Amino acid sequence: MVARIPLIAGNWKMNKTPAEGDAFVRALATRLGTIEAVEVVVAPPFTGLQAVVSASLGTGITVAAQNLFWEERGAFTGEVAPGMLTSLGVRWVIIGHSERRQLFGETDQIVARKVRSALNHDLRPIMCVGETQEERDAGMTEERLVSQVTKGLAHVTAGEAGELVVAYEPIWAIGTGRTATPAAAQEACALVRRQVAQVLGPAARETVRVLYGGSVTPDNIGDLMRQDDVDGALVGGASLDVESFAVIAERA
Ligand code: PEP
Repeated sequence: MVARIPLIAGNWKMNKTPAEGDAFVRALATRLGTIEAVEVVVAPPFTGLQAVVSASLGTGITVAAQNLFWEERGAFTGEVAPGMLTSLGVRWVIIGHSERRQLFGETDQIVARKVRSALNHDLRPIMCVGETQEERDAGMTEERLVSQVTKGLAHVTAGEAGELVVAYEPIWAIGTGRTATPAAAQEACALVRRQVAQVLGPAARETVRVLYGGSVTPDNIGDLMRQDDVDGALVGGASLDVESFAVIAERA
């Protein structure tokens, strides 16, 4: 069995100036010291990437973008190309977050193109999937997750599973304080892992990392991480505070 390194990623969303991001990462690095047992990633807005990458150098903390566009250059006003991110030292990219799907119309097809483009440029995708409250109530969680995983990975090859992270984020748990129970998170993350293996082949089951996201806090991370199929967390609100994010990383 392959040992998967736990991953804790903080999604800052539309928060923090470059100066605030710089200060945050310096404080987090001091607070955590040398971190080896867990990978720690922060995702500032585009405007903060350069400052945060600079502050993270030599700390073990790595940096994600919150989005990208799949083209390399051209007339795409307001978009950012994968090569622009890697040129700054960005190593990861969050793709298909539910806010992008719901507020900015991202479809599974768009997500699939972005995932392919990230992998083409050595950016590791953190692809988000998850059901709404209505879908859960209607007993459609499995169908939704199977569909999102299958379509989102349409252009990924079997050998790329080790580069891939899938974050299971039930939409009803994001920013609501309503965390999935550890058992529910386990059930959904196991389903996601099975479906990744269905799409990319059985070896992917061991190598893909599956995160849980949705109101993760220092108080619930321990129980979530004890689940077999939860390899880490994508953290929103609690990643904005150095102390709470540091405790989440430590407990992971
Ligand atoms: C998120 O937006 O990815 C998220 C999980 O947010 P929160 O932790 O605030 O629920």
